[in-house]
Amino acid sequence: MRGTALRRGDRGPRVAAVRTQLHAAGVSAPAAEGGEGVFDEVLERAVREFQQRRGLRADGVIGPETGRALDAARWRLGDRILRYVPGHLVVGDDVIGLQERLLELGVFVGRVDGVLGPETEHALRELQRASGIAVDGTCGPATLRVLSQLSRTVGGGDAAALRAAEAVRRAGSSLAGRVVVVDPGHGGPDPGAVAGGLVEADVVLDLAQRLEGRLAASGVTAVLTRGAEQGPDALARVRLAEEVGAELFLSLHCDTAAPLADAASPGGGGHGVATSYWGQEGTGVRSPVGARLADLLQRELVARTGMTDLRTHPRGFDVLRLTRVPAVRVDIGYLSDPLDAARLADPAFRDTCAEGMLAAVQRLYLPSEDDPPTGTLRLGDIVARSQR
Ligand SMILES: [Zn+2]
Repeated sequence: MRGTALRRGDRGPRVAAVRTQLHAAGVSAPAAEGGEGVFDEVLERAVREFQQRRGLRADGVIGPETGRALDAARWRLGDRILRYVPGHLVVGDDVIGLQERLLELGVFVGRVDGVLGPETEHALRELQRASGIAVDGTCGPATLRVLSQLSRTVGGGDAAALRAAEAVRRAGSSLAGRVVVVDPGHGGPDPGAVAGGLVEADVVLDLAQRLEGRLAASGVTAVLTRGAEQGPDALARVRLAEEVGAELFLSLHCDTAAPLADAASPGGGGHGVATSYWGQEGTGVRSPVGARLADLLQRELVARTGMTDLRTHPRGFDVLRLTRVPAVRVDIGYLSDPLDAARLADPAFRDTCAEGMLAAVQRLYLPSEDDPPTGTLRLGDIVARSQR
């Protein structure tokens, strides 16, 4: 979707196109007689439903992220020829379908994320070689025929989770030498949530810098996606992670109680901390390492801060879906909640949060027999481990 955001009250052919895309994605938004091009209440409700299903912020507005999700949702496996194009990655639900089939067949070792990257191409070639058809790494008619002929097997998702865990284990337990991208949300012209005398963009940048210092002390190269002046878009943040060869991507936000029911804020009008990772609710599609890191972050933050536990959630945000390495997003506290806001205003509290996040990153790499109880790992222990 190009151009500015579409919202209730807008009119024109782009609105009619949204109706068609929603319909293709299985969400009906019947138009009043002659009103296909009018963004009415019915369409707004349909957009919210779509956003909710996709794990996006359910604000009923078609911005760039929802536009990309709508575009991805209209493709079914077989609708188009799929091939890996470096620098211009093909994204869509048809790619998810392809990756799931390749995973079930045991030739795909990557992440089911709907992005056709080199791992998917490699798996296609392997399948083609094994089934004696032309090996071109492209999913066209011949490959689709092979895919539909091969019978389904079970347990593919578990196999992927095991392989991902194995890759992390092989990487060793020291943090030294790793690259982690820390992504303070918003920035520049976008302040994020503003409430309780706090500005989200400033709070998360400060948290990111406190975490950066601790990561650096542990031998990690921490790369921030922005400084105080910039507000890069989601795709620029994703690209940065790729450019610096990050192993993990950690996005930081604060929440605020929305006036309307909000799928991205499980607390509703609430308070507390929530963590999300790439995944689709109810489908089993998810990043296993992302889910593990989200779980560790959530435990450490809740144990150390005493904030309300709003749990971990699979979500479809661009920074989670498009980042090629395990990515998580932490929503630390509600600025609209007086107690959360008072805590977040306190530098000592921010240090506690940063130490908890560092502990979670360290625990991701520790073998289970070495994994310390939640809330106990200190910066000094982690630095000592990095120097062994
Ligand atoms: Zn935010």
